[in-house]
Amino acid sequence: MTNPLLEEHALPPFSQIEPHHVEPAIHGLIEANKARITELLEATDAYTWDNLLEPLEEMEDRLAQAWSPVSHLNSVNNSDAMREAYDACLPLLSEYGTWTGQHAQLCAAYQHIAEGAEWNTLDTAQRKTIDNALRDFRLAGVSLPQEKKNRYGELQKRLSALGSQFSENVLDATRAWSKRVSLEQLEGLPDTALANARQAAEQAGHDGYLITLDFPSYMPVQTYCHDRALREEVYTAFCTRASDLGPQAGKWDNGPLIDEILRLRHELAQLLGYDNYAELSLERKMAPDTDHVMDFLMQLASQSRDQGIREWESLVAFSREQNGPGELMAWDVAYYSEQMRQARYSISQEDVRPYLPVGRVLEGLFEVVARLFGVDVRECREFDRYHESLRLFELVEDNNVIARFYLDLYARADKRGGAWMDDYRVRRASKEGLQIPVAYLVCNFTPPVGDTPALLTHTELTTLFHEFGHGLHHMLSQQMVAPVSGINGVAWDAVELPSQFMENWCWEREALAFISGHFATGEPLPDALLDKLLAARNFQAAMALLRQLEFSLFDFRLHLEWGRDTFTTPQALLDEVRSALAVTPTPDFNRFQNGFSHIFAGGYAAGYYSYKWAEVLSADAFSRFEEEGIFNHQTGADFRAAILAQGGSEDPMTLFTRFRGREPEIESLLRHSGIHRAA
Ligand SMILES: [Zn+2]
Repeated sequence: MTNPLLEEHALPPFSQIEPHHVEPAIHGLIEANKARITELLEATDAYTWDNLLEPLEEMEDRLAQAWSPVSHLNSVNNSDAMREAYDACLPLLSEYGTWTGQHAQLCAAYQHIAEGAEWNTLDTAQRKTIDNALRDFRLAGVSLPQEKKNRYGELQKRLSALGSQFSENVLDATRAWSKRVSLEQLEGLPDTALANARQAAEQAGHDGYLITLDFPSYMPVQTYCHDRALREEVYTAFCTRASDLGPQAGKWDNGPLIDEILRLRHELAQLLGYDNYAELSLERKMAPDTDHVMDFLMQLASQSRDQGIREWESLVAFSREQNGPGELMAWDVAYYSEQMRQARYSISQEDVRPYLPVGRVLEGLFEVVARLFGVDVRECREFDRYHESLRLFELVEDNNVIARFYLDLYARADKRGGAWMDDYRVRRASKEGLQIPVAYLVCNFTPPVGDTPALLTHTELTTLFHEFGHGLHHMLSQQMVAPVSGINGVAWDAVELPSQFMENWCWEREALAFISGHFATGEPLPDALLDKLLAARNFQAAMALLRQLEFSLFDFRLHLEWGRDTFTTPQALLDEVRSALAVTPTPDFNRFQNGFSHIFAGGYAAGYYSYKWAEVLSADAFSRFEEEGIFNHQTGADFRAAILAQGGSEDPMTLFTRFRGREPEIESLLRHSGIHRAA
């Protein structure tokens, strides 16, 4: 019986893949890999790159290529059978990850190569691959004495259970609350949100309208609803979810979980030889140490606070003009901000759409890429597709195809929401020769209707450029070993650099002149519309930045200071951070932290700062283009050579400094956000 997942394909054999192929292929590959690793380790004790790490890379790559189209199809062409096959493989892959990650003999073999004579003959990428592997072995507790190793296992297991319990509590608390309302109470709500509330009621078997705590229901109520009492009630329910307060007080309380998670993370960090969990978290990040992160956040805070206060004062003044409440409360902020935004910068994304037909936008994007990096994009017509709207392109340089990418642009019922880049193949030297990278770029735009082409909003345009930036990082890699090629091995506070960097061209007049073009007349986006977009972009920029800094500082200090004499409770720390930073009011009953899944259930513990960190990098990198010309070919070539080509082969601070001539500075981000420095 043939299995397409076990065959060699330059492009994924989408139409041949059946759900029943999945588990046998993945299971078989994992078992074969394990046997081969054991065999390689036993074959010699003089380990080298060629006799161990090269075959290891080869087999990992084969597994990745079998899994990639499965994971992709599960996301973009979902069926019950495919999901079941996909889910069945998750524990197999996780178990395999643990098996290799804690393999003491394998770790010792890496160590042998790192300390042997061969080390001096290896190139930067090979050494980085080995360093990363040794770091990951260490963080997996491989070299701990048995007793501590057992404890390490217990801690990981318990932390993983606590993490899923945390998000389940948030989910349950979110689902358990809803409120039936009349049309009059929803006055102010836009049509889409009204339809949403109507549909929610129908699904629950009611007449009328239903408000829930899901974000697409909660946010429009806070932003648009004229009924202040309703906003307050919904706000109260939302910000007390999974806590000891509010309408569902104590029912799914995450408070005790937060305490236990922090305690166990601290123990885990100390077990591995760190003072605190923040130090451990930085092991896989670009930021050099905890002082650096604290300085970074405090600098941004001190530069934006005065302007934040001014923005807040003008919001208060605006609400007075509108005969708003005597004192603005938390449930008034989004509402009056929206009123103010509309009054000052009346612009609708719908006004922009006719100027951004998808065909023109893609030509424009490819033109930007050609001008910056000297690479052409060509469409391929004949290929194996899972949906008629799927498109395939190749990157061409000096008549050579250097990479390929799929473009899956439109929303469909069987497709996961959001936008992302993923890869089928990574650039590497294989036995058969150079393997060129293949990427998937996925968006969820509104499909074309009738004869009218698909028309994008400016936000969607930015999303497309963002994902293409990730794609370029993957496709313009010059690396030869998979673990540091493309976005592999890139510190995750640096991985958003190329993506956010590409967004900048969506805000430049010179670029929009050819990225945009009215679908009927071809006229580019009018200057007046762009001016409004630019002004609206920076509305309340300092307030938004301060809110992000509040989350970042709370998260980082929590994992840095837990266990110190000065630390009392998470709530006390949050209050302290707020009193230093926040310009908008927060009521005492707010239990934001109880729903902060990013850091308690996701991977962002002591890492929430990464969002701002990467923004600083991308803004600062772009500022060199502002100085030298946004289409300066040499600057583009330098960015490509220093950042895009390097993948994870070197420390990102080294790479950034090589491109910029110095370490990153926050000025460009502040300037792009319209935040004027404090004196
Ligand atoms: Zn991204």
